[in-house]
Amino acid sequence: MTMTTETHTDRLDRLKAWDHAHLWHPFTPLADWEASDPLIIERAEGVYLYDSEGRRYLDGVSSLWCNVHGHRHPALDSALKGQIDRVSHSTLLGVTHPSAIELARRLVERAPEGLTRVFFSDDGATAVEVALKMAFQYWRQKPDPEPLRTRYLALGGAYHGDTLGDASLGGLSQFHEMFRPLLFPVLRSPQPYCYRCPLGLERPSCAMACLAEVGKILEAHPGEVAAVVVEPLVQGAAGMVVQPEGYLAGLRDLTRRHDTLLIADEVAVGFGRTGSLFACEREGVAPDFLCLAKGLTGGYMPLAATLTTEAIHAAFRGTAAEGKTFYHGHTYAGNPLGAAVALANLQVFEDERTIENLAPKIARFRDRLAPLADHPHVGDIRQVGLLAGIELVLDKATKAEYGWDRQVGAKVCRRARLEGLLIRPLGDVIVLMPPLAIDGDEVEWLVDVTARCIDEITRDISM
Ligand SMILES: *Cc1c(COP(=O)(O)O)cnc(C)c1O
Repeated sequence: MTMTTETHTDRLDRLKAWDHAHLWHPFTPLADWEASDPLIIERAEGVYLYDSEGRRYLDGVSSLWCNVHGHRHPALDSALKGQIDRVSHSTLLGVTHPSAIELARRLVERAPEGLTRVFFSDDGATAVEVALKMAFQYWRQKPDPEPLRTRYLALGGAYHGDTLGDASLGGLSQFHEMFRPLLFPVLRSPQPYCYRCPLGLERPSCAMACLAEVGKILEAHPGEVAAVVVEPLVQGAAGMVVQPEGYLAGLRDLTRRHDTLLIADEVAVGFGRTGSLFACEREGVAPDFLCLAKGLTGGYMPLAATLTTEAIHAAFRGTAAEGKTFYHGHTYAGNPLGAAVALANLQVFEDERTIENLAPKIARFRDRLAPLADHPHVGDIRQVGLLAGIELVLDKATKAEYGWDRQVGAKVCRRARLEGLLIRPLGDVIVLMPPLAIDGDEVEWLVDVTARCIDEITRDISM
């Protein structure tokens, strides 16, 4: 080591070079990344992120759908620091700790009726993977076993995470097709994607035929289905595909009628995104499994939870000798830092009346988005609560897509960055999902900048 202190510019050059030399970024085309000048986020405050040049960006997708009450919220920061002063990690295998206990209790108090048991892990993918394996083992161990229930029903366009079990449920060819030879087959129901209905029907004359298809599949496979898996209300990674009203409740009815289980993956939609703490509440649905991650810690730490019922839990109750144990766990499951900040996250929902205060912001969001529907290259705007997907199309009349090679969504988001807005698309769907802490004026600014960038980019491309 020499004594010379590195200049600001030298440090940035070094960081960029080392990033390009060593860091493999998720979901990132490598050549495009190497050709780009990486944006380096140094710090954050509230709903804003700051890069290494001190430039400010509104965090328009909540740092990948995670942040809730803003960055560096005093209550969350202090919960985390308080936990660090006690213990940063201790395991849940064979011992326990106060933050996990308290958090389990608080989650049960707020979750839909009947979800009284909490299994912690560390990411969204693990939360769903746990539910899949629990459901499978449940059918083998319940008092009147049904070991033939080994299949899962998932929706077209489903995304439940990137582990092989979750990818098996996946219905996004771009992400999942490569791995198909490794994946187990699932029963697949038509995607409830009204703008591009896979059944070629229209609302409301369709009478939700996509839901009736689920019923037909369950009927055709009696006693075979371990669980139906759904992202309640909105399929996130599919492009913020919003289900028709009543779809989720209908799915719950069907799973009851066919005696199978319902796994609700609220990894993306949980913690207020749709306007209520959990999306299931909006249709009065209590699933058999509720999977939580992303917003669970307010966007601070990797932590996940799979909530389930007494009935499921009871099938696993036994001594070591009885062999009913769920042999699944993750080293950092229920990590104390994650649990402590998740507790603070829930407390802030109460102290700041976050859900109650959302309504006017959601109204301004909806109103500001509305005129964008008239834009010649905006095919569909799908908004629920404080999240939205704006689907861009080459031709509005035919709904023709721009196509992957044109990277229209990515271009819109790159243009937005120059204006101080950080967003990330899903193909040609522009995703807006700001932290719930955003204020009404910022919501309108977010929509205005997005609209302007959409207009500029689609204009450039059609010329
Ligand atoms: C992000 C996401 C996951 C996966 O969560 P990770 O924390 O990335 O593993 C699962 N399900 C849904 C609906 C998601 O949006």
